[in-house]
Amino acid sequence: MCGIVGYIGHREAYPIIIKGLQRLEYRGYDSAGIALYDGTDIKLSKTKGKVSDLKERLENEISTNGTLGIGHTRWATHGVPNDINSHPHYSNSGDLVIIHNGIIENYDALKKELIKRGYTFKSDTDTEVLVNLIEDVKKNENTKLGKAVQIALNQVVGAYAIAVFDKKKPNEIVVAKLGSPLAIGIGDDEFFIASDATPFIEFTKNAIYLEDEQMAIIRRHKEVKVRKIKNDALVDPYVQELQLNLEQIEKGGYEHFMLKEIYEQPQAIRDTFRGRLLSNEALIKLAGIEDNMKKFLAADRIIVVACGTSWHAGLVAEYIFEDLARIPVEVEYASEFRYRNPVITEKDVVIAISQSGETADTLAAIKLAKSKGAFVFGVCNVVGSSIARETDAGAYTHAGPEIGVASTKAFTTQITVLTLIALRLARAKGTISSSEFRHHLIELETIPNKVKEALESDGYVQTIADIYKDAKNFLYLGRGYNFPVALEGALKLKEISYIHAEGYPAAEMKHGPIALIDEHMPVVVIATKKGHYEKVVSNIQEIKSRKGKIIGIVTKGDESVKELADHVIEVPETIECLTPLLTTIPLQLLSYHIAVMLGKNVDQPRNLAKSVTVE
Ligand code: GLU
Repeated sequence: MCGIVGYIGHREAYPIIIKGLQRLEYRGYDSAGIALYDGTDIKLSKTKGKVSDLKERLENEISTNGTLGIGHTRWATHGVPNDINSHPHYSNSGDLVIIHNGIIENYDALKKELIKRGYTFKSDTDTEVLVNLIEDVKKNENTKLGKAVQIALNQVVGAYAIAVFDKKKPNEIVVAKLGSPLAIGIGDDEFFIASDATPFIEFTKNAIYLEDEQMAIIRRHKEVKVRKIKNDALVDPYVQELQLNLEQIEKGGYEHFMLKEIYEQPQAIRDTFRGRLLSNEALIKLAGIEDNMKKFLAADRIIVVACGTSWHAGLVAEYIFEDLARIPVEVEYASEFRYRNPVITEKDVVIAISQSGETADTLAAIKLAKSKGAFVFGVCNVVGSSIARETDAGAYTHAGPEIGVASTKAFTTQITVLTLIALRLARAKGTISSSEFRHHLIELETIPNKVKEALESDGYVQTIADIYKDAKNFLYLGRGYNFPVALEGALKLKEISYIHAEGYPAAEMKHGPIALIDEHMPVVVIATKKGHYEKVVSNIQEIKSRKGKIIGIVTKGDESVKELADHVIEVPETIECLTPLLTTIPLQLLSYHIAVMLGKNVDQPRNLAKSVTVE
């Protein structure tokens, strides 16, 4: 997966593309490159490394003039991250230049064919095969670029969002999409291309999100022509008005996006409630649920499909749905589900969770579930994303843009929206009394302020981070609703600090992990008052007897754990099913501070990308 940006219009393309790439680095950041048309020729510069490395190199290497250009920030799938494999890629003649997000699965067969026809390749990428395939079609069929792209893509198996231009026709860019996102910003006599709308939000709020199997020919001083890749038929595109604003995607005084996003959680949760949680009327309203209530009420079970942090949110949802709405729930890794011939019937409801709404495995799981007749409901953050479009109905989390690669506010808002759904269904099914329901709504309403209060532990969490930052391993334990939080806490630490960490259900500890405990092992134990408290306290005793270092996440005012633990971090009291929204906060802060103290790149951890658009 990667980020792509393009521009054609009356402004200098370079500053727009470079800034746009910086905003898209969450999608990948192992290499970056730009191709500009300066009025006479293509100027191309690319490098292994980040967009900032490209900027430094490029400004010494090429002139940055030109009102047409394309840029790429890469997350390698084919060929190691190095200068040559970086995008853009030229065709053999040097006329065409391309950027690509995705994977051309049949690239090897296509490459062999092209080699037979005399083509040579500099890189190991699938992308260079595609640009030469386009060139080959263009030559053989003697067609314009748009038509050549269309014919070539009909020979391609895989996923792509591409932008390509021809230096001999420097007044048009051709773009196409299948499986990877592509938005076209429509300005005043200018057009922007990007993997999401953030690179052009300060220039225009009007955008076309290409659908799968669509391409567009974007001509200077003309309109955008959208066509179907399969049969070349013209499509009337829907121009959407975007709600995003610039402040939402900048750091706002915080050192890192991750910290900003951790601190945004009270507001993000409020935004998730907006118009849905109506406690004065004792109501929850979610359009996607109301319109499909029959499906949910008739469901034999709910299958949650997700990856990574979203999968952890799905595990929390399993507890809430079963506890409140009494619907059996299975939580599946999308990547396993899609390949294991699962039993799915028309009476299943599948809930797909993904922050970006572009996660390739989750998308494939959705398609599989739909093909078997299940009703598929999406929970995602990015409006207009592929998952939002592919599902039968859904609910957005409304967390606002999440840029830090390690998910924080996406997780808590996913739990929030899933809690609203569970409560709404519980009410409709009559598995919760009206007074209990009302009590839950009142408690939910207090959560944003309680998250704010939980954030006050930040200073003390920093002290703890300093003590344990050099540990080689961490264990995270929780039970019930807080078992998935333990998994999420461990994942956060692993992904940004590169310290090995494991999350476990606290009681499972004695079936193996307890062997790891000695005086060097910090163990983070979630031990809130509601939810198996005494049992967890016994687990803490067991750790203590083996000299493990205990960091307890406890309910405010707790005394018992304080006596046993080396450190305790307090969170406000709430009802059991809402505790994950609070206990997760200090765990996010702990991983953040450890990673900062270790000098790691918090917002862009190695080997990762925010939006996993490849399987
Ligand atoms: N498959 C292409 C490559 O490896 C594009 C990967 C991406 O989406 O960044 O270069």
